[in-house]
Amino acid sequence: MRCDDARRQADAALDGALKADEQDAIEQHLATCPACRAAVAADRRMGDAVRRFARAYPAPRTLHARIDAALTAAPETVPGATPGSGASRPWLRHLKERWARPMASALSGAVLASALTLWIAVPPDRQRLADEVVSAHVRSLLAAHLTDVASSDQHTVKPWFTGKVDVAPPATDLATSGFALIGGRLDYLDGRPVAALVYQHRRHVINVFVMTDTGDGPPVPRSDQGFAIESWRARGLRFIAVSDAAPADLRRLAALLAAEPPSTDQPGAGDGANSAGAGGGVNPGGERPTN
Ligand SMILES: [Zn+2]
Repeated sequence: MRCDDARRQADAALDGALKADEQDAIEQHLATCPACRAAVAADRRMGDAVRRFARAYPAPRTLHARIDAALTAAPETVPGATPGSGASRPWLRHLKERWARPMASALSGAVLASALTLWIAVPPDRQRLADEVVSAHVRSLLAAHLTDVASSDQHTVKPWFTGKVDVAPPATDLATSGFALIGGRLDYLDGRPVAALVYQHRRHVINVFVMTDTGDGPPVPRSDQGFAIESWRARGLRFIAVSDAAPADLRRLAALLAAEPPSTDQPGAGDGANSAGAGGGVNPGGERPTN
């Protein structure tokens, strides 16, 4: 058996999907070929990592149809080869069988196995923060704990945070732009208390978490569990907005808040966090990772 064939069929062997003699051939090859053993082990590590860190999304029907069509059209023998020359593609036969098999053991190879599902890998730090943001948002809606201070008046909301968190969030009512400030709340994210500004846009509640920008926080994915997330940095603060509103609406709110001039009525939070970066770059969406 050649190394190429052994590596192609190693997944199937792992699944026990091969005939006994094919299985034996692969095992024999792996027993005597350190390079293939290493390659197969690396594939399995990749598969494990994807299972641990990736999120699953159903693949679109059109993708199913395209793969079906491509597999059906692909000849199992090498084009141009003379019959009986052995120039066949046993891996392709295996692939066709496997694709057709319902509930094929997904992900042994982390590559093709995703017949029914797309797996999007997100580094664990980013994913954790996104999960926390969404959890905090949902909790605020479920537990009748949307606001600790219910007001659209920034001169009420902003001072309320004094002494509770180390930031002075720009609690600006943007009702004229479609985003009504309905209050503020303390929350807990990324291991620290943060300010949560609560906005209403049409029927959607938007939580805007505001914290000191330590510069080292991981970027956050743009969506998680069906919620849109927008994060940006401005004036020494880090903002993360989350909602079931449209992503474009969240971006608009981000731009409006980022464009707010530095506050002149500091509530005396103590560390001047809000003014630390005054005049610095305003960059809504600027910390976007490429997903
Ligand atoms: Zn080999």
